[in-house]
Amino acid sequence: MEQDSNNNSLDKVRSHLQRECFNKLFIGGKFVEPIEREKLPTYYPATGELLHEFPRGKANDIYAAISAAERAWAEGAWAAMSAANRAEIVAKMAQGIEDNKEMLAEIEAADVGKPFRQAAMTLGGAANEGKYWCSLGKALDKEQDLPVNSGGGKGGLPPAEWNVVYRRDPIGVVGLISAWNYPLNVAFRKVCPALIAGNCAILKPSEIAGLSCMFIGKLAQDAGIPPGVFNIVTGDRDAGVALTMSPSVSMISFTGSSITGSKVMEACAPKLSQVALELGGKSALVVFDDTDLDKAVETTMKGFLTNGGQICTAHTRLIVQDNFKQPLLNRLKEELEKLPFCTNPITEKNRGDRAWEDGKTDVVQPVVCDSQHKKILGFLDDAKAAGVEILTGGGVPDEKVVGHSGGYFIQPTVLVNVGQETDVWQKEVFGPVLSVRSFSSEDEAVLEANSTKFGLASTVMSSDPAKAMRVANRIRAGAVYATSTGEGILAEHPAVSRGGFGCSGVGRELGIGGLHEYTELKSVNYTGFSLADAKIESVE
Ligand code: NAD
Repeated sequence: MEQDSNNNSLDKVRSHLQRECFNKLFIGGKFVEPIEREKLPTYYPATGELLHEFPRGKANDIYAAISAAERAWAEGAWAAMSAANRAEIVAKMAQGIEDNKEMLAEIEAADVGKPFRQAAMTLGGAANEGKYWCSLGKALDKEQDLPVNSGGGKGGLPPAEWNVVYRRDPIGVVGLISAWNYPLNVAFRKVCPALIAGNCAILKPSEIAGLSCMFIGKLAQDAGIPPGVFNIVTGDRDAGVALTMSPSVSMISFTGSSITGSKVMEACAPKLSQVALELGGKSALVVFDDTDLDKAVETTMKGFLTNGGQICTAHTRLIVQDNFKQPLLNRLKEELEKLPFCTNPITEKNRGDRAWEDGKTDVVQPVVCDSQHKKILGFLDDAKAAGVEILTGGGVPDEKVVGHSGGYFIQPTVLVNVGQETDVWQKEVFGPVLSVRSFSSEDEAVLEANSTKFGLASTVMSSDPAKAMRVANRIRAGAVYATSTGEGILAEHPAVSRGGFGCSGVGRELGIGGLHEYTELKSVNYTGFSLADAKIESVE
């Protein structure tokens, strides 16, 4: 029965994937075959079956996309439009996500292994975020020819009759390289600001799970984005390398692991092109003993199990006050051992990251692919060899517990008394694995929270607001949550900029600052006439 249900739902997704946009590259406004006609496979994480084969774009395909983008950039019509007008076109793409949410959610459920319910919710978030970006088009226009306090005339300052306005120019041809965990969200968070700012872009989605991103080409075509302004080349690392190395690409916006992020920065260094890097994390959940026990358990589960632990802000280090540790761990073990596995993500319409709504984690999804599965199990083997104690989980669940064979399932795992120097404390596992340490004082809690090279997010739980805020302010991370209930952790709002300290990134996404990342700030200095004489046309 279970297998039949998986087969039927997979066939339905495969029928969506027959569409041209899921089988070709998108270059110069057209869907085209990759030059060498090679393909890459992607598998259904719940069973390990082949889901689809998509084009493997290589360096020459990347060069073709760069040429198309360069032509569009040289032609100049896109950059010459007002940002508000560009935003109106991009808004149609955001609406297209909303209109096709069900199909895209089924594709992401099959490609990533996330429950349909969760995929639909986050895709709704991508559409909303797109609409927010579009609202910033007008804000960017208002920043053009913005007068700056200038002049002076004495003590080495410029002459008294010297005036300045700021402008924000697009950067040029930009490369957008994205990760697989929230495929369309991560990619669209780059596409919107890049295009609204007036750039011409090439998107290279992840080869692990990037099928939903291919639909952005169809949305661009339908919305009337001019040919070459936006291009998509699917492919693996080689395509990413070709994009980062090209002297014609003036900026790379990258989301992925910190190791790859550093390689991207290295590739961009010789040509001094801009980089925006959204990288990995090892976020801490600091729990004080005055926290409600139920809320602490819920928040811990949500923190490390959302999207199967495959979220950059996953709270995979629990730092709990000494006297609260045992009660919390006892309850956590009990709850985790009751959690069911998500055997058919495509049809999982009722469960899946319900934690976003009412705080309760209700199902465990498979991890995305065989190589990630092996990597996570490798971390667990190393931890066991290093003498780390396993409170619960620690490996692959029994097939009888999962409900069928195959698939990349891992038991929700809690490792206790973990050494600060161990890999499971210091490195991003990117799976359902939590490492636990304890503290006795506020100072010690802060030291524990700041004890890795990452700094993406973290949460402090306490019923004492002053303590929660005091500790949150001392944690070195781009997004910190202070809470007595756990509500809202991992939440993002498009108007709130975020990014990483340390090895978690360079630059900020979202908010007006996130749009500015895709622009160059220019001062236009003028003397001898007024701006009114120059008759600059208003873009209002
Ligand atoms: P990854 O670094 O393996 O790959 C990311 C992308 O880079 C893929 O498209 C890949 O093909 C490409 N790539 C690989 N090697 C490259 C190279 N040398 N040059 C150019 N491109 C190259 O990451 P992943 O496994 O796809 O994604 C998971 C990682 O992404 C995790 O570390 C996670 O924390 C991070 N992530 C961060 C955020 C954030 O906002 N900070 C969001 C989502 C995911």
